[in-house]
Amino acid sequence: MNKVSEVVKSGLCTGCGLCATAKSAHVVMERSGGFLRPSGVEKISVIEQKGIFHACPGVSSGYMDVELESGQLEDRLWGKHLSVMAGHSTDSRVRKRGSSGGVITEIATYLLVNGLVNGVVVTIYDEANPIATLTKIARTPDEVLEAVGSKYSPSSPLTVLDTIHNAQGRFAVVGKPCDVAAFRMLINEDARLLDKIPYLLSFFCAGVPSDIGNTRLVEKIGVPIEELAKFQHRGDGWPGSAIATSKENIEKKLSYNESWGQVLSKHLQYRCKLCGDGVGEAADIVAADAWECDELGYPQFSEKDGESLIIARTSKGMELLTSVIEREVVRASDIDIRLIDKMQPGQLIRRRGLHARILALKILGRNTPRYSMFRLLKYCKKVSLSEYLKNFTGSFWRAIKR
Ligand SMILES: Cc1cc2nc3c(=O)[nH]c(=O)nc-3n(C[C@H](O)[C@H](O)[C@H](O)COP(=O)(O)OP(=O)(O)OC[C@H]3O[C@@H](n4cnc5c(N)ncnc54)[C@H](O)[C@@H]3O)c2cc1C
Repeated sequence: MNKVSEVVKSGLCTGCGLCATAKSAHVVMERSGGFLRPSGVEKISVIEQKGIFHACPGVSSGYMDVELESGQLEDRLWGKHLSVMAGHSTDSRVRKRGSSGGVITEIATYLLVNGLVNGVVVTIYDEANPIATLTKIARTPDEVLEAVGSKYSPSSPLTVLDTIHNAQGRFAVVGKPCDVAAFRMLINEDARLLDKIPYLLSFFCAGVPSDIGNTRLVEKIGVPIEELAKFQHRGDGWPGSAIATSKENIEKKLSYNESWGQVLSKHLQYRCKLCGDGVGEAADIVAADAWECDELGYPQFSEKDGESLIIARTSKGMELLTSVIEREVVRASDIDIRLIDKMQPGQLIRRRGLHARILALKILGRNTPRYSMFRLLKYCKKVSLSEYLKNFTGSFWRAIKR
């Protein structure tokens, strides 16, 4: 593969929106098969195609094979880091509305209030289509707060690239790991962008569910999709509930365990199932749910005050995290990195199984993201032969059926 159109055709597109910023062709992001997909990519010029293809998260394997910064440690499973903490926003309103501990919202607000950036790229719900999202540059703390909470829906944060190029000032980006990896690749190649986008914030991501999954979810909650006025996947507690509000202002809820576990996780984007970077390796700071698990390793989803796992990956991220803790806008303390194995069993299983899944696809001659198989081998160091074979054969047969 060496063209964006081939990425889309082979089902590897993440819908990030990078190709919609092409200058040589009119490319727009459209809803297709329940996801956001670019149309018009065939017309992008050969030269422009090259640059976009290089950073395209559909094929690029994130930011995994980069040299360590001084002081950075590398964990075989959880990647580069300078500190690993658990914590939450000290503003009880942000902590309650945040997906986990409201840490991303708090850090983004801190960046704005202290003039470290002039805007933050965030993802909000689309009022015209309540299960869908829009990318926005938040310029005030209220606008950052408006974007609080995880939207388990397709989003295209890279579409703001032109606006950032043309605007005055500096910007932080909040995005999924794949979005942030694409931003990082672009920043590394363009000194102007390095100055314009000083901070990249991300979260652990298990994959993007489709519109079809979201429609099923809304109907399971008990609101016909055409009657839906407002929707939120999480927030208002931890893990919080999915809340659908009808046009008659009737509010209905479904627990996180039922909404994510029983509906949305069954409707993930194909590329997400091949993802090796659900942990935001390219971010300066990445946050996730600091789930508590039972003795069988299954996360407990009983309602509690929100708590985030927070990983500072770069020295810039570490400096920022130290500042928000010193200014007491975030309260956090160190945890042992091995605790993440227990907090994030889903991500652990996914990383351990990736080598087998990619190998199965390669043997079948299918297109896959560009991975170093050697790196993937590191993730499955302690995997038993039966677990390996289960992943391999599962992927093999699913690919043949597809
Ligand atoms: C699709 C998806 C899958 C996820 N999978 C996992 C997982 O496997 N494990 C885990 O621990 N956590 C996962 N999360 C992240 C988790 O839900 C929280 O975002 C994380 O704990 C940070 O919480 P917070 O309270 O600090 O974030 P908040 O303060 O609530 O801020 C959330 C930020 O995320 C941004 N955002 C929300 N939705 C999107 C989107 N679709 N695209 C781009 N940006 C968005 C918003 O702009 C907002 O700034 C996922 C989130 C999403 C959107």
